[in-house]
Amino acid sequence: MAASNQATADTWAPDSWRSKPIKQCPEYPDKKALQKASSELKRLPPIVHPREIVRLRQHLRDVAQGDAFLLQGGDCAELFDYCEQGAIESKIKLLLQMSLVLIWGANRKVIRIGRMAGQYAKPRSSPFEKVDGKEVPSFRGDILNGFALDERELDPNRMVRAYHHSAATLNYIRAALASGIADLHRPLDWGLGHVRDPTLKAKYSEAVQFLTDMLRFMHTIGADKSDKLDTVDLFTSHEGLLLEYEQSMTRLLDNPLHVPTAPSSSPSAPVATAAEGDDDSHTQQSPKMYYNTSAHFLWIGDRTRQIDGAHVEYFRGVANPLGVKVGPTTPAADLLALLRALNPAREPGRVTLITRYGADRVRSLLPAHIRAVEDSEYRRRVVWQCDPMHGNTRSTAGGVKTRRFGDIFAELRETLAVHREQGSYLGGVHLELTGDAVTECTGGSEGLADDDLSTNYTSFCDPRLNEKQALELAFLIADHYRA
Ligand code: PEP
Ligand code: MN
Repeated sequence: MAASNQATADTWAPDSWRSKPIKQCPEYPDKKALQKASSELKRLPPIVHPREIVRLRQHLRDVAQGDAFLLQGGDCAELFDYCEQGAIESKIKLLLQMSLVLIWGANRKVIRIGRMAGQYAKPRSSPFEKVDGKEVPSFRGDILNGFALDERELDPNRMVRAYHHSAATLNYIRAALASGIADLHRPLDWGLGHVRDPTLKAKYSEAVQFLTDMLRFMHTIGADKSDKLDTVDLFTSHEGLLLEYEQSMTRLLDNPLHVPTAPSSSPSAPVATAAEGDDDSHTQQSPKMYYNTSAHFLWIGDRTRQIDGAHVEYFRGVANPLGVKVGPTTPAADLLALLRALNPAREPGRVTLITRYGADRVRSLLPAHIRAVEDSEYRRRVVWQCDPMHGNTRSTAGGVKTRRFGDIFAELRETLAVHREQGSYLGGVHLELTGDAVTECTGGSEGLADDDLSTNYTSFCDPRLNEKQALELAFLIADHYRA
């Protein structure tokens, strides 16, 4: 029998998505080059290992059940150029620092996932755009074409380049973490100089003081030497948009959770120690499973989550934990259909619902989505994650794409409040951020205005929170939990 991950995957195969309707699919002009790139990718080793994927799945089970918090963040469109020591380090440090604030605030372990090492494909509202009055193909992310106008043609060889950049990025993430970049006894630069509001400043300083004292204390008693604190996990993720790439990175591999059943002639043999819950039996049965070995976590975007579409078909068959973007255009009834397709075994944490409505719509739309899930057989089995970025994009009078820090925080605050009212658990946040001092979102304690955006606007897609804004958001979330 084909070793499929999900019980109903009778006709599933890594390429079964090809017979389904698909959105955002590139039409490569050079089929021979596409064939060559796919074969090359199939030959190359996995970027991530099934054991790591399983470890993340177990963490996400804890998140679904309310025992942990998920912090996911990174660029909107990661460029091959970001595969560089400084950019990688600043993002790792920012995610680590934010997670410390969240651990302090939410009093829970924090799982970190970077939108890194593979976030190279972008869905676009139109395949063409006007540049200087001329119609040109849109930039679809470095894995598909280049931003430069003379590189807009789709080039399948970019998938191979994406693989190498992804591998090099993750290689450096692993090396940096293993060598102590996340060393908790190194003083962290909390740089609160920009915070002008005295009440906010006092609040943040209190948190920083507490964290600094705690880290010093742990160092004194040697607690930071325990293997739990010496190294930090950082998982990787990207939108699973380009199925040519995702299929080529799919491998049938040993299931680390599989426990061979003891022969019936030896009743004293140790019994298989399944983790708690009947829903594990399914994932522990297959000796081999299909894994997408390009990242630990993949999500299906708002534009490609059609229940009968190619993306849902592909992702239902791989054992990685999955995200699905949920927005104003998602009918509540679709949520259950999606969960039944992607997680028929009802494994807690297998699916993360990433909600993104916009600050002014979350209150009217989120409650029905929560009820559809929490009143069904999926109660406490999904991770609810808030993406306060994608429903809050606007253009300035001068036509610059931006987001207000105030709107981002407002959506997050409303989302937290609605989950509290509905008795569900908001398990995480999904943010577009960078460790650099960019000026892409307005507001925050620096008080960036529309006119400041041109100072250092470097995003090739959506506007990201800069380091100060991202950290401030972490403080505000922490504050919510401590209130
Ligand atoms: C994104 O996360 O960059 C994105 C395109 O989001 P969404 O699918 O929610 O629009
Ligand atoms: Mn984006």
